[in-house]
Amino acid sequence: MNQYSSNKNHPQRINFKNPIDFRSDTVTLPSNAMLRSIENAQLGDDVYGEDQEVNELQEYAAKLLDKEAALFFPSGTQSNLTAMLSHCQRGDEVLIGKNYHTNVYEARGASVLGGVGICPIETSATGSMNIEDMLNQIKDDDPHYAVTKLLCLENTFSGQVQPQSELDKLAKSAHSKNLKVHLDGARLFNAHIKTGLSMKQLTSSFDSVSICLSKGLGAPVGSLLVADQETIYKAHRLRKMLGGGMRQVGVIASCGMYALKNNIQRLQEDHDNAKILAEGLSSLEELSVDFSESQTNMVFVSCPEQHRESLERFLFDKEIIISNLDRGRLVCHLGIDEKDIHFVINAFKEYFKVTA
Ligand SMILES: *Cc1c(COP(=O)(O)O)cnc(C)c1O
Repeated sequence: MNQYSSNKNHPQRINFKNPIDFRSDTVTLPSNAMLRSIENAQLGDDVYGEDQEVNELQEYAAKLLDKEAALFFPSGTQSNLTAMLSHCQRGDEVLIGKNYHTNVYEARGASVLGGVGICPIETSATGSMNIEDMLNQIKDDDPHYAVTKLLCLENTFSGQVQPQSELDKLAKSAHSKNLKVHLDGARLFNAHIKTGLSMKQLTSSFDSVSICLSKGLGAPVGSLLVADQETIYKAHRLRKMLGGGMRQVGVIASCGMYALKNNIQRLQEDHDNAKILAEGLSSLEELSVDFSESQTNMVFVSCPEQHRESLERFLFDKEIIISNLDRGRLVCHLGIDEKDIHFVINAFKEYFKVTA
């Protein structure tokens, strides 16, 4: 079981009037205001570098993260893959936390398509990596070994903010061994809102950072790889090679710009809602609720096996969609407001009262 195998497809969702969909923050739909940004988009062929919306978005993102340049991607997977291939040659090796997205959920693209080996490093339940464990896996310069070139970290991990001092120390140690360091920051804006640290403080230790616009920020498509000029120059060729060169892509880049300008501060609401949800569900003794101090927008819930299917169906009849309740991930996002959260808590309470 993992976060995807437990996230069922629900074709019936299309007929729901007001679904409360907790499966992921990727299910968000663009707002009317976001869609209007498309009408005014200054489009051009981005393969010629002539789409003004994309150019502006890339400049804006680079400045926001205090790096030299940025490149727009259709997905976080392609952005992470391109980063790995930009930093590594065939036969090189990247160190990645065992449970990180780049190790588990990206189909090993770096190995399959780039000839880059992946060496997984143990991580704790909260996603932290021990410096010694990491250093122990950096191979000596010896013809028997691969060449360790890159360390790949992740923040947030399973919705949890990684302590910045730990990430900075890991990056510093890796740099001292001549490794590059990439951050998968798919939900880095949640870390920004949770910690109050600036985007610059969250990214300054890393050579490259990938951010997603289509998670909590609510854009329909898009990720950005942000780095120095030289890395982005390499990444541009690799993106073309991977089939990621897009044409009048300002139609989605304009939504991404809208998301960066309007939807970052509101992530606080998702964090508040997750907390209310966690507290509300904790009052039910049948449930085991995991909501750590460092958690942002996700609540993990388990319930006894005999209730799982019937509870899921009970909630589904109320248009509440959750992933499997063996350790279900309930993700709060801009499609779910506080009123919905109270409705959901009451629905859980009703179920357990009914079946008691
Ligand atoms: C969503 C996500 C990505 C990128 O996934 P895509 O579906 O390819 O956009 C990368 N890392 C993490 C941690 C994610 O949650």
